[in-house]
Amino acid sequence: MLTDYHMHTDHSGDGVTPLCAMIEGAIAKGCGEICITSHYDANYPLWLGENYEPDLPAYCRDIKAAAALYAGRITVRAGAELGLMADREDVLQKTNEETEGVAFDFLIGSLHCLGPQYVSDESEYFVGHTHLSFVEMVTQHLLTIARTYNCFDVMGHLTYFSRYSPLETKQQRYEDTPQRWDAVFEALISRGKGIEINTSTKGRLGFFMPDIDLVRRYRELGGEIVTIGSDAHVPGDIARYNAQAREMLKAAGFSYHTVFAARKPEFIRL
Ligand SMILES: [Zn+2]
Ligand SMILES: [Zn+2]
Repeated sequence: MLTDYHMHTDHSGDGVTPLCAMIEGAIAKGCGEICITSHYDANYPLWLGENYEPDLPAYCRDIKAAAALYAGRITVRAGAELGLMADREDVLQKTNEETEGVAFDFLIGSLHCLGPQYVSDESEYFVGHTHLSFVEMVTQHLLTIARTYNCFDVMGHLTYFSRYSPLETKQQRYEDTPQRWDAVFEALISRGKGIEINTSTKGRLGFFMPDIDLVRRYRELGGEIVTIGSDAHVPGDIARYNAQAREMLKAAGFSYHTVFAARKPEFIRL
C-alpha cells in the first residue's frame, strides 16, 4: 500500500495548500493511507510573521472531520510535525502542554533550529565549522532531544541540515560520527521511537534524509519503526520517490514500513 506520512497544509507556517486539496492530491497519486503533519514549532524564531503554533485541538478536529468525509476512499490520519530544540526547557514544556490530550495518531519530532535562528544556507550555524565539527554538533542536539522528549513517535529528517549546508560536504553520513549516531539510535530504540525516511531531498540532492548508510545501521542496532514521508507542501509532491524509498528500506534489511493509529505503530510489508 502506498502511504505518505509527512505532509503540510495551510494550517501553519509555510503551508500553502488547504487540507482537502492535499487529500484529493493523495487520492490522485494512489495513496491508500496518509498522515497530515502540519508544523507545530513552539517558540520558533519568526519568519515573516508566519504562525508555527496553530491551535492543535482545532487542527486535529479539522483532520478528523475530513478523514470521515473521505472514509472508504483513503485513510487519513491526524498528525503533526513538532519542532523540538535541545536544552530548551521552554520548548519542551510548551510542546508537552500543547500536545497533551490531543487525539493525534502520529507525531514527528524534528530538529529545525540549533539556536535562536531559522536555518538557511547563509545561517550563522555553519560559521566556523568544518563538515565534521558541524555533524558532531547536530548529532549532539539530536541525542539530547532523543533522550529528553517523550512527545513524538519518530524523529523527522535526521540529516535535515544536509539540505542547507554550504560546507565542503553537504550530506551527513554515518561514517562522519559513528559513535554519536549509534547513541542517537540506541536512545530512540530503547524509548520505543522510530525514524522517518524523508524523501524531499531525493530529487534535488540525490539522497534521502537519512540515506541507506544510517538506515542500515539503525536496523543493525534493532530499529524497527520507519515511516516514509514526502514532506509535501503542494499536492504534486505527495508520495514522490516513495517507491525508491521502499527499495532502499529493503536493501537496508527491512521487511516492513510503519503507519500509526492512535500513536500505536502498525507494520506494513514492503
Ligand atoms: Zn521539518
Ligand atoms: Zn515537514
